[in-house]
Amino acid sequence: MVLTLSKMVVSFCFTVLPEIIRLIVLAIFVSWKSYRLVRSNYKYMAMINKKSSKFICRKNPDSEFQECAICLSEFVEGEKGRELECKHLFHRHCVEKWLQEYKATCPLCRCSIVSEESLAEYRRVKNEQNDSIIEKELALILLSVLHGGSCRHGF
Ligand SMILES: [Zn+2]
Ligand SMILES: [Zn+2]
Repeated sequence: MVLTLSKMVVSFCFTVLPEIIRLIVLAIFVSWKSYRLVRSNYKYMAMINKKSSKFICRKNPDSEFQECAICLSEFVEGEKGRELECKHLFHRHCVEKWLQEYKATCPLCRCSIVSEESLAEYRRVKNEQNDSIIEKELALILLSVLHGGSCRHGF
């Protein structure tokens, strides 16, 4: 009985404990990465907000801009739009996607909205998040811990 207990303690220290520590370290790493992504997103959107303003599309036959130059669809009343510093108008989601994934400049006049470095930095953090090797490893460890748990239950 004592032997079984000490064996259990030894096996706990040498097999379960390192797994738990690894799990905790990975969990901290993953949350730190998500925090960085959220912060980078927030910072980048703040820069876009500084150089543009949001608006809701209203029918205005006198307006020079009747359609969004990114998706080439006409502005429909009530749609969310964004006006860049250069006075060019786009759908909000179209121009945000453009500035986040393609270029740091206005699609029409190519004036700079955010700096190239900010775009590069934003995309770097985003891509880091996409290669989810760490997350996969975390899932594998979680699985093995769960599996180990059910085995011990069988004893
Ligand atoms: Zn559009
Ligand atoms: Zn422009």
